[in-house]
Amino acid sequence: MSAPKRFFVEKIQEEVVLAGEEYRHAKSVLRLRTGDEVTLLDGSGREYPAIVSSAEKGRLFLHVVGDRVSDAEPRAEIVLIAGLLKGDKTELVVQKATELGVTRVFVFSSKYCAAYMNDNKLERLRRVAHEAAKQCRRASAPEILYFDSLKGALEAGKPCACKLFACEFLTENEGTMSAIEAPCALVVGSEGGFSEEEFALAGSLGYRGVSLGKRILRAETAAIAMLAVAAHALGELG
Ligand code: SAM
Repeated sequence: MSAPKRFFVEKIQEEVVLAGEEYRHAKSVLRLRTGDEVTLLDGSGREYPAIVSSAEKGRLFLHVVGDRVSDAEPRAEIVLIAGLLKGDKTELVVQKATELGVTRVFVFSSKYCAAYMNDNKLERLRRVAHEAAKQCRRASAPEILYFDSLKGALEAGKPCACKLFACEFLTENEGTMSAIEAPCALVVGSEGGFSEEEFALAGSLGYRGVSLGKRILRAETAAIAMLAVAAHALGELG
C-alpha cells in the first residue's frame, strides 16, 4: 500500500477544504475518493493525518484525525545562496536543495548573471519547493527569496555562524567544507561566475572562500555538490 498523499494547506482545523491547484491534483491526478487517507501539512513542521469526508465540484472536504511532529524535517539550518541560472536550472537547484534539507534559498542576480527573474518565475520556484517537499516527505518547504544584488543576498545570510563562498578562481582555501557548522550559508555563483570585487565583498561580510576542486563545475552541479557535502557533514544524510 502506498503512503498517504501529502497536501499543503493554509490553515489546519478539524475540517479542511482542499481547493484550487491542490484540489485538481487530488481529484484528477490522484483520483482521491471519500474515505481515502491523506496527510496535511501547514509548513510548521507538523503532519496531520486526515480522511476525505466528501467532495463537490472544485472542493474536497477533509476531516483531520491526528497531529504529529514530522521526523523528516532538517535539524540543521542550511541556507543556500545561489546565482540565478538560465532556463529551468534554478528549478533543478531548488528541487535538489529541498531534498537535501535546505531551510532557505536566496536566489541572486550578480555581475555576470545572464538570467532574469520575474514574479511568475519566483512563484514557480516556490511551487517546485513545495512539490519537492511533499515528494521527499518533508513537512515544510524552504523559503525562497530573490535578491536583485549579490550584496543583498550576502547580507541576508550574514547571521549564519558559518559562511562559505564557492569561488572558482580561489588560489588558497579560506574555509573547509568538512568543518562546517550550523547554521550555515553556502554561496554558489551563476553560469558566469564571480568577479574579484564580488569575492572581496563576500570576504568583507564574513564569508570564507572554498574551492570545490580543480575542475570547474557547472553552477547547478556546484550547488548540489556543495549542499550534499554540507548535509553529510551536518548529519543530515546519515
Ligand atoms: N564562468 C566561470 C569560469 O569560466 O571560470 C565558471 C563559473 S561556475 C560554472 C559557477 C559557479 O560554480 C562558480 O561561481 C562557483 O560558485 C561554483 N564553482 C564551480 N566550480 C568550482 C570550483 N572548482 N571551486 C569553487 N567553486 C566552483
